[in-house]
Amino acid sequence: MNTSLFTDIECLKGVGKATGEKYRKIGISSPYELIYHIPRNYLDFRAYIPIAQAEINTYCVLKLKIISKGTPKQIRKGLVICRANATDGTDNITITIFNNVYTFHALQTGETYYMYGKINGNMLQREITSPVYVKIGDTALIQPIYRLTQGLTINTVRANMRDALDMMHEYPFETLSFDILQKYQLTTLMSALENIHFPQSSFTAEQAKRRLSFDELLKLQLGMLIMKAQRQHHTSFRMDKNIKTDEFTENLPFKLTDGQADAIAEIIDDMCRDIPMNRLLQGDVGSGKTAVASAICYFTAKNGFQSAVMAPTSILAIQHAKTFTSFLEPLGIKVAVLTSATTAKNRTQILKELAGGEIDVLVGTHAIIQKDVEYKSLGLVITDEQHRFGVSQRTALAEKSDFPHKLVMSATPIPRTLALNIYGDLDISSIKQLPKGRTPIKTYAVTGKKRDGAFGFIRDRLNEGRQAYIVCPMIEDNENDLFAVKTYAENAKKSTLNGYTTALLHGKMKSAEKEEIMEKFSNGEIQVLICTTVIEVGVDVPNAVVILIENAERFGLSQLHQLRGRVGRGKYESSCILITDNKNDECINRMKIMCRTTDGFEIAEEDLKMRGPGDFFGNAQHGLPPLKIADAFCSMELSETAKKCAEEILADDPKLEKPENHALKMETIKLFNKDITG
Ligand code: ADP
Ligand code: MG
Repeated sequence: MNTSLFTDIECLKGVGKATGEKYRKIGISSPYELIYHIPRNYLDFRAYIPIAQAEINTYCVLKLKIISKGTPKQIRKGLVICRANATDGTDNITITIFNNVYTFHALQTGETYYMYGKINGNMLQREITSPVYVKIGDTALIQPIYRLTQGLTINTVRANMRDALDMMHEYPFETLSFDILQKYQLTTLMSALENIHFPQSSFTAEQAKRRLSFDELLKLQLGMLIMKAQRQHHTSFRMDKNIKTDEFTENLPFKLTDGQADAIAEIIDDMCRDIPMNRLLQGDVGSGKTAVASAICYFTAKNGFQSAVMAPTSILAIQHAKTFTSFLEPLGIKVAVLTSATTAKNRTQILKELAGGEIDVLVGTHAIIQKDVEYKSLGLVITDEQHRFGVSQRTALAEKSDFPHKLVMSATPIPRTLALNIYGDLDISSIKQLPKGRTPIKTYAVTGKKRDGAFGFIRDRLNEGRQAYIVCPMIEDNENDLFAVKTYAENAKKSTLNGYTTALLHGKMKSAEKEEIMEKFSNGEIQVLICTTVIEVGVDVPNAVVILIENAERFGLSQLHQLRGRVGRGKYESSCILITDNKNDECINRMKIMCRTTDGFEIAEEDLKMRGPGDFFGNAQHGLPPLKIADAFCSMELSETAKKCAEEILADDPKLEKPENHALKMETIKLFNKDITG
């Protein structure tokens, strides 16, 4: 491998301090990192349209012959405008280029070019501004589009990329064996990196994406399989099957559903083995996972061990603590709660009781995994809404004791095939049914024109004594034209919800403030909560019966389903109103699915179909390391292939110790950001 690939990005031709700085700003500091700056998409110059069809304010590809060129005009200091006239054979258009005399001079009168740029002007005189272009006859008709930063032009990136790739080609390298390449029909790494940036055809671009996505998925699978293999230790917390939970069940204010009872039995069975449990409890929103969690905390306490229950937000931690307390304290089990808002004095007291073993169940945010939090005998770790946590947070908690049992709970159902694939290391229990007596939530998708009607509907519910949520996508106003919760709350207070008690809630508020508002909403002092997606997970206020979601197009199916799950939690009929003016097919389809079904598993399947598994991998949503390439491109089939390949590699070399696997091992460690081979 050419080592200068890993030196300063400024070693590339024409990259000085200023350009280097711009690259570093987007996380690129070496030629190698530049090569792994994968295009977001491709520009296909073959897909040109006639000028007459080019709509104002859109980006288009046109095929234009230059008729005449004007002279560059200096308008003011730092602004030079160059103009040319061009035709597509039927209509004329002006080409306008700012400050780039060089690009302008390269255009030749009488020559034909493919040009891509923004269409400005009006129907009579159209203008294409600062186009990217290639000359007719040029072979590079498919060009990458990169995530850029101010001042880095596509042409600069392309020139630098060419240079970096040439450097790489001097000393070709490969991370996979010839056998694997052949067996899975993968193109070589060198060819993939070349073609992802300079594709010879759509086919080679596809091949390149497939290979690079495969690499990432393979690393992901290798990491997870290695971690799983390492977990085959013995737990110090083997529990006793003979301990019964009848007392707990009898104390509950409701009868457990069959699904809940089965899940509890399955989990207890698992905890009575020598190997630590590592289980995912999936249950749709409102299926009653908290009661299941309480039951097994009860069982753990009766076995003489402590439990830690971690929630992603302080709102949820407080709410859980209340539920756990009401279920467990009457049975003599002590529950405590620790969040970032806990006072220093209380915290010290809690830590003391925890180390002494007086506290049986500690509920909290990630505050409960900080170093100074010591348990006497932590036998069970429950992570609620686990997709909100990263891998590192989960492992930190697990390392607190001698292989405690672990249960993660998720209300974002993952289609089984995908779950097995991405949580190769987990066993799965699912609760498929909801408690009896729930009326299904009615969902309506409407445009902004119906907003007044929606508010009328909300006021009717409030007048009946119920409560409501309104969700906006942003906190502050920005140029995106999206609803911002702050302004929205101000306006609603003065107009549509005048006379009702409303409150604002968003992620940037202090924990204590959020907790206070949630408390007031929970006990009915606040009628309408105007909020961002902070309420997305877990919040349980059964008296809230309407949720109105603004800019619904901004949310994915799973997220909409989560938000909707805030209502329909009690005996009253509930509604979800989705407002969007977006007419995009994909958006309309999403709204239709939401209106058609409230079954989270069905929605997850639809989500998988519509977006591919990449989205589940994206944004570390499920606590997986973030993938850059596979995120956008991969398919279910590819993910399965990668898993199979990882299993084969590990069967031969379980810890990736052989020299031929060295590169893979290093890359895997890099992806997980830690040495997973221990
Ligand atoms: P989730 O699975 O979304 O975390 P929760 O545990 O918050 O759901 O439960 C949702 C609501 O259903 C709570 O108000 C809870 O008290 C109630 N609940 C749970 N189990 C039952 C049951 N078996 N019968 C009736 N209500 C139940
Ligand atoms: Mg929950």
